[in-house]
Amino acid sequence: MTTELFNLLSDIYFTMDKAWDAAAARYNFRCEGCEDNCCTSLFFHHSFIEKAFLLHGFEQIAPAIKEKAISRAGTYYTKTFAHGNTASKKMMCPLNQEGKCLIYAHRPMICRLHGLPHELHKPGSVPFKGPGCHAGFFEAHPYFPLDRTPFYKKMAAIEIQFRRETGKTGKIKETVAQMLLF
Ligand code: SF4
Repeated sequence: MTTELFNLLSDIYFTMDKAWDAAAARYNFRCEGCEDNCCTSLFFHHSFIEKAFLLHGFEQIAPAIKEKAISRAGTYYTKTFAHGNTASKKMMCPLNQEGKCLIYAHRPMICRLHGLPHELHKPGSVPFKGPGCHAGFFEAHPYFPLDRTPFYKKMAAIEIQFRRETGKTGKIKETVAQMLLF
């Protein structure tokens, strides 16, 4: 059954990627891996299904490469969270090896949606608008709406199903490093 949910999650990711590509094309934007890119941003992930799917992808990597990534995750975790650090440092994600994501097909939502101007519509609130990364110079182009709302809704629904099936409860807030370590 989890396989079924993983397939559904892949479908959601696919539509996300298409929406992102369409918006990026409108802005004539290409991510060139600058300092503002997702791999050096401190992101927390909030769903058990994304963690399970990421680890499912990680399991498919060669043991020696996995070992190195785990070691980088340890360094990342220590430098970011230990000794009272405020987690404000920009550090490379432990799954980025020589500029490439080791689990690209299994990467989480925020890695997919990062970078472009976007909006989020919460019931009863003024729509939130995110400006996109600095490298895009998006203000020089006509605004193109990339609405994250339907994706967040679909992700919430699939997370509920996943929790029901696996018995997971409570909150999750983890970096990729934490996902690999704990
Ligand atoms: S999971 Fe992959 S795409 Fe996301 S930050 Fe890490 S290396 Fe980058």
